[in-house]
Amino acid sequence: MTTTAPSRQVSLAEKVYQRCLNIDCAATYDVGEVRTKCGACGDLLDVVYDWSRLPVPKRLSDMEAMWARRHEPLRFSGVWRFHELLPFAPPERVITVGEGQTLLQQADFVSRYVGLRPGQLYLQYEGMNPSGSFKDNGMCAAFTHAHMVGAKRAACASTGNTSASLAMYCAVTQLMRAIIFIGSGKISYGKLSQALEYGALTVQIAGDFDDAMARVQEISKALGIYLVNSVNPFRLEGQKTVMFRVLEALRWEVPDWIVVPGGNLGNSSAFGKAFLELKELGLISKVPRLAVINAAGADTLDVLYNQRNLRWNRGRPRMETACWYYDELDRSKTKADTIASAIEINRPVNLKKCLRALDVCDGVVRKVSDQEILDAKAQVGAGGIGCEPASAASVAGAKLLRQQGVIGYEDRVVCILTGHQLKDPTATVAYHTTDQDKFEEVLGSRGVTRASYANRAIAVPNDVEAIIKAIQLYS
Ligand SMILES: *Cc1c(COP(=O)(O)O)cnc(C)c1O
Ligand SMILES: [Zn+2]
Repeated sequence: MTTTAPSRQVSLAEKVYQRCLNIDCAATYDVGEVRTKCGACGDLLDVVYDWSRLPVPKRLSDMEAMWARRHEPLRFSGVWRFHELLPFAPPERVITVGEGQTLLQQADFVSRYVGLRPGQLYLQYEGMNPSGSFKDNGMCAAFTHAHMVGAKRAACASTGNTSASLAMYCAVTQLMRAIIFIGSGKISYGKLSQALEYGALTVQIAGDFDDAMARVQEISKALGIYLVNSVNPFRLEGQKTVMFRVLEALRWEVPDWIVVPGGNLGNSSAFGKAFLELKELGLISKVPRLAVINAAGADTLDVLYNQRNLRWNRGRPRMETACWYYDELDRSKTKADTIASAIEINRPVNLKKCLRALDVCDGVVRKVSDQEILDAKAQVGAGGIGCEPASAASVAGAKLLRQQGVIGYEDRVVCILTGHQLKDPTATVAYHTTDQDKFEEVLGSRGVTRASYANRAIAVPNDVEAIIKAIQLYS
């Protein structure tokens, strides 16, 4: 499916284009073309800028001036405030619902859990986005592109947060109809309820997430529907701004570590691209190290990176290593399985871009168990910021890397909390209320045998004296 941009975008086309990630192909496409992969070789596409022809800030601190213009929708947005660093759309075409008003919080309670010196752990809480997850950062960019090219319908397959985000943008702007594809496997109620309430056309397929993903690609092609799945390169442009906001909150000092959960690997890829570009532009002098954390039940990146030594290899990664591994998964009928539904993905579509990010940021990859994820989640909550299970993988991963001595006691570490606690209340309530011997049954998850930080309700008779006694005993 190829649509040509309206003529008013043509001048932009010389400064911004899409380019194939395969350096032996490097085919380019107009910024106004709608495609999800390279037409010549099938590889992923990147959005590329000719910075020499674009107005780039001289110092990152120049971006602070945008705060003074918060009455303008373009600058109110925590994404478009950095428009100069993702200038693929003319400012007057940009769409925002106020995404990216997020928080970097110094989290001393959680830093003790992770094993860092007090003051050194920061949580970047992307659950504060309008639809409750970091996905809004990318969706406003993809949605802007969809609108630029005149789309009337947009579709995605999703484990939940992408569809919630798309449905929200469609509902707030009334510019497009959202069509979302879900499988019949795990999807959290918080996320599904959003898509339904925002009025998205919701198609539930009798199959799993991989089936939903395959169908949405075929159907959007057949019907000419704009696809906003993770393969959409414009989403990553929006997600770069999570890093810009982290730097901004640290007064433009680069931290030692960024720790992020890895599912389809869009976030990690976008972070790597952000630092690559900032370095190219001379806006930073050092790049942080990146840690990407898989769930043990969906550990493709960990296997490929740590066991099979798959690397960026100067732009020529041996992707057949991944193909062989996927064949093995098929033969053994292995499906991704983790309580962290947002990262329950075995074939990460942005794998190759993530390898680039790991290369740029001298990265490491780890996996953590559902037990570690849920315990970390409870500690994040006890520290005052709730998050959904997938998000807590970052904190569990930081703790593991600290134990292994990879992250030092004095290092300054930023963990990305990707989604809001209320996205998945089922997991939270189950953790705090379930009897030890019933965990596997209730959580439907292998290997979770205890709730180390459960905060249980205390049962009391309907009697003032008994209640007073109980409160005095427990407080
Ligand atoms: C989508 C999502 C992830 C995974 O991010 P990727 O960019 O696909 O790696 C992690 N956490 C939450 C809450 C998500 O919604
Ligand atoms: Zn190509």
